[in-house]
Amino acid sequence: MRALITGGAGFIGSHLAERLLDAGHAVDVLDDLSTGSLDNLAGVASRRRLETVIGSVTDASVAGPLVERADIVFHLAAAVGVRLVVEAPIHTIQTNVHGTDVVLEHARRGRTRVIVASTSEVYGKSHVLPFREDADLVLGPPTKCRWGYAASKLIDEFLALAYWQEHRVPTTVVRFFNSVGPRQNGRYGMVLPSFVSRALAGEPLTVHGDGRQTRSFTWVGDVVTALTALAEEPRAVGEVFNVGNDREISIGELAVKVRAMTGSDSPIEFVPHAEAFGEHFEDMARRVPDISKIRQAVGFEPRVQLDEIIERTVAYWRASRIDRPRRAVAQATPVLATAPA
Ligand code: NAD
Repeated sequence: MRALITGGAGFIGSHLAERLLDAGHAVDVLDDLSTGSLDNLAGVASRRRLETVIGSVTDASVAGPLVERADIVFHLAAAVGVRLVVEAPIHTIQTNVHGTDVVLEHARRGRTRVIVASTSEVYGKSHVLPFREDADLVLGPPTKCRWGYAASKLIDEFLALAYWQEHRVPTTVVRFFNSVGPRQNGRYGMVLPSFVSRALAGEPLTVHGDGRQTRSFTWVGDVVTALTALAEEPRAVGEVFNVGNDREISIGELAVKVRAMTGSDSPIEFVPHAEAFGEHFEDMARRVPDISKIRQAVGFEPRVQLDEIIERTVAYWRASRIDRPRRAVAQATPVLATAPA
């Protein structure tokens, strides 16, 4: 099988690429390296069945032929991260909506299987917990630009399901809930890597808001297992699935846990959302998935729980602090294939 992973040099995409290559599949990666890095693929860069194309999924002349030669597309490329979304809302909306449209339009020609990455953000401010896939979604107003990311991903979901309904393109939507693990970086507002790297450096851990907001963290290996299982399940076509761990923790408690598990004496600082992200921001109070649908469809069960997730993340950050010079060399490794300009 030949799989295309858009956003394959990113955090989730690179773990998925490894898993598919290990299973003997050919993998094409399309990535513009805006938030991803070739470093993420360094462990598989020499694999014969991997091809990496540097280019944008919004460029149909590059993405189109790759989609058309694939047996399955994992469409993960997107503008992600709270900070990026707040700072570049037009870019976010255009990348997410147009990129998905390009993928689906080309998948239509061969009725190619497509898995479209969405997000728990689409549940917005709903208070009906845990979040079920068939629940009503409660987004905030367009004056709060944070919701532009959720809305763009929601349009992606509508598009994916519409391509199934109108053109029989076999699509599945996955809503990720705070996937975490090695290679995720904290630069774009991801909380766990940011806490861990700061704790190890003895810098303050910045909690946005009062810290009582909760999140549910999912080990990236469990996410990849869910993706590959759904890809092979015919009954997943035309459906939306939560992919997450249903145990929640408040961000304040997470900061305390990370500090204890790293042995750090970093202070914990509370910064109002308005100060961190501007006036046009509001947060979600709680985020917990109901995972009964994916459990029933493919037997999905999150295997790695929070303490172990933190331990593994700490080990990764400790190693990468020691390993920086080697990683810099890996980053300079030439690209296997470069898309036409
Ligand atoms: P990531 O930033 O590591 O991965 C996204 C990848 O897409 C990056 O490698 C980036 O360079 C690439 N990309 C961005 N714009 C592109 C473009 N126009 N053309 C080609 N490549 C482009 O983030 P991730 O966490 O791996 O996210 C993967 C997907 O999962 C995204 O669609 C994201 O919205 C979704 N998601 C992730 C989480 C999470 O917790 N990690 C939660 C919800 C949703």
